[in-house]
Amino acid sequence: MEPKNVLDPFGQSYIEDYERLFSELGLQKIDRTILERMVELRIELNRYLRRGIDFAHRDFDKVLDAFERGENIAVMSGIKPTNEFHLGSKMTAEKIIYFQRVLRAKVFYCIADLEALVDNKIPLEESKQIAIDNVADLLALGLRRKNSYIYFQSREKKVTNLAYLFSRKITLNHLRSLYGDRHLGLYFAALTQAGDILMPQLRDFDGKKIVLVPVGVDQDPHIRLTRDLVARVKEYYDFLPPAAIYHRFFRSLRGESKMSKRSPRSMLALNDDPIEVEKKVKLALDGGRKTAKEQREKGGEPEKCVVFELAKFHFVESDEKLEQIYRECKNGERLCGECKEEIARYVVNFLKRHQRRKKRFIPIAERLLS
Ligand code: SF4
Repeated sequence: MEPKNVLDPFGQSYIEDYERLFSELGLQKIDRTILERMVELRIELNRYLRRGIDFAHRDFDKVLDAFERGENIAVMSGIKPTNEFHLGSKMTAEKIIYFQRVLRAKVFYCIADLEALVDNKIPLEESKQIAIDNVADLLALGLRRKNSYIYFQSREKKVTNLAYLFSRKITLNHLRSLYGDRHLGLYFAALTQAGDILMPQLRDFDGKKIVLVPVGVDQDPHIRLTRDLVARVKEYYDFLPPAAIYHRFFRSLRGESKMSKRSPRSMLALNDDPIEVEKKVKLALDGGRKTAKEQREKGGEPEKCVVFELAKFHFVESDEKLEQIYRECKNGERLCGECKEEIARYVVNFLKRHQRRKKRFIPIAERLLS
């Protein structure tokens, strides 16, 4: 049977074959040409780019052109405030913080409370409290407030005005082809997201510019919809199509294709008690053999191991150290028990530092979102 790829920005996505996404969706590769150009432009590469976790894009080369010409660049992202930050949200947050710094870009960060209302039935006041916690995480991870615009979808009239205009320019069949059969609330949430993505190009924000959206590849339908809408609203707005850079999914601790807020026991949240986290890492799916003897003889399988992924995606910054873990696992020098203990220490140290820092940002997030 052919490997299955399901991209659903509103639900569960599965990717069994990343390579096929290029031909299925017409994505461009983050290849050596892109990385070498970044180096030529003196843009340092973060671990997501160095390790191939950011693997695909749309028009990211145009973002680099704009950077080379010294033009304004916007980075757009957001969160649906339904739950605390987990490692997937951390990944997106770190990417926007990185691009804010290296491209000297302005960040537009949307709190998608309207989507939380229509998709998850979370009342606006409740999602506000969750958003305060999320924004405190974002600030503690390093977002610079000075060059950011953080807003609630429900309060940003410019976004909903755009969504209304878009609703006249698209058919129900078109939305169905992108998202499958959904209720009207979700279709309108998609149009609202398109408004979020294009708002940075309005005159109120210094007009036309390239907007980069760093997201998981499951969000590609939103990017395609928005790029399509740009052409359809030409008589009203002279927008540039948004660019996107896509990362691979971080799997759940049990090895399912994506960490999801919908299954808390298989995810690691940034608010988790470090003692609990240590237990979760020890129970996570590894790539070990049935016995220590077999592992010493045949070596482990880091490609299948979520614990190795924790190190690769999130917690081991040094490429040399990561390479050492991989090598020792492959040639049987490393056993899963000790390895999990070592990687759990990285995770716990990060969480303790982050949680201390975050405490300082809670009152700031409350003021920002009041
Ligand atoms: Fe994973 Fe470490 Fe076991 Fe290798 S030794 S399979 S990296 S837990």
